[in-house]
Amino acid sequence: MKVLIVLLGLAVCAYALPAFFDSTHDNGLERAPAVQCNVTACKLPNCLCSGVTIPGNITAAQTPQFVMLTFDDAVTIANINFYREALQKRKNPDNCSIAATFFVAHEYTDYSLVHELRATGHEIALHSISHESNIAYWRDASLDTLNKEFADQKTMMAHFANIAVTDIKGIRMPFLQMAGNNQFQMLKNNNFQYDLTWTTQKYISPGLWPYTTEFSSIQECLIPPCPTESIPNVWAIPMINWVDQEGAVCSMVDACVNVPNTTNALLDWMKGEFNKQYTGNRAPLGFFVHAAWFTADEMRFETYLKFLDYLATLKDVFIVSGSQVIDWIKAPKTVAQMIAAPSCPKPTTTTCSPRACQLIKEGTVERWLTSCVSQCPNSYPWLGNPLGEK
Ligand code: ZN
Repeated sequence: MKVLIVLLGLAVCAYALPAFFDSTHDNGLERAPAVQCNVTACKLPNCLCSGVTIPGNITAAQTPQFVMLTFDDAVTIANINFYREALQKRKNPDNCSIAATFFVAHEYTDYSLVHELRATGHEIALHSISHESNIAYWRDASLDTLNKEFADQKTMMAHFANIAVTDIKGIRMPFLQMAGNNQFQMLKNNNFQYDLTWTTQKYISPGLWPYTTEFSSIQECLIPPCPTESIPNVWAIPMINWVDQEGAVCSMVDACVNVPNTTNALLDWMKGEFNKQYTGNRAPLGFFVHAAWFTADEMRFETYLKFLDYLATLKDVFIVSGSQVIDWIKAPKTVAQMIAAPSCPKPTTTTCSPRACQLIKEGTVERWLTSCVSQCPNSYPWLGNPLGEK
């Protein structure tokens, strides 16, 4: 009898399991497993199956080759000059200014410089408040932790850098550590548009295009967990890996170890990696680095500038931000259409008078915070206290 009860109990549990996975509730939101993508159900502008097909039935030759330049971590007086020098005065073939994307971490960031980057047309995205170095913290992060790290960082960034909260659209997880469903649910719940953390080695050529996470993805999961639930209206922009001269893959260019150490050879290698997309299915190419890569060797920065000069000679290559790539995918246009009717982003109208504040972090450590806010906060802004009000 006991055995029967146990078996019955198991049967009930087993029966209950699919219902549990079909629809669980977290903060009152429906959570369901992602099913295989179906092109008749998943249509632009708000849904795109993961794949290597160019959106909008455009031929490769008529498709703009997008290049995303991104920079991670704190924006400081020590790295701003690289950004100023590399990015200013450059134009795309439609005569709009180029745009880079900054994944900004809170600690040591000078928010008046973030304001400057936004005011000069770049995209400000988020890279967490704490940038906690324990990878398990990110891998196992709850929805609450992710809300404190990113949703609160959005409020913090808009406030201290004096930029529009609606202009903050993307995130990249520290150390590229994915946090699975919670990561993408957090993005959806807080009106983020995209994630730019998920790396791929499998889809380099042809490259994987960005896609939405409403249906299951074909992308391999290299730094699990990856999402398994159906999460509509959020885009995954894959980090298409580069391959160094010894054949080792690298998600970020500064993580490629076996690269040439002379300008000409390094430039040739960069062009070779670029050509994998440019001569292929034109999946958006990422050039992902930290400014520290430039600091360590002047030659690298010189080569980076030469690479950007080279891209400027190609009349179908556009250097744009993560959200500009998504905006294009939602309404694809040929290169000719883009040039004939340019839609350059409108300049921002906010201003910033920098103010430096000496604050105490969590009751012990001294921190300086330079921001666009005229009145110093009561304490150093941190997790659970993004505006430093407490
Ligand atoms: Zn980082």
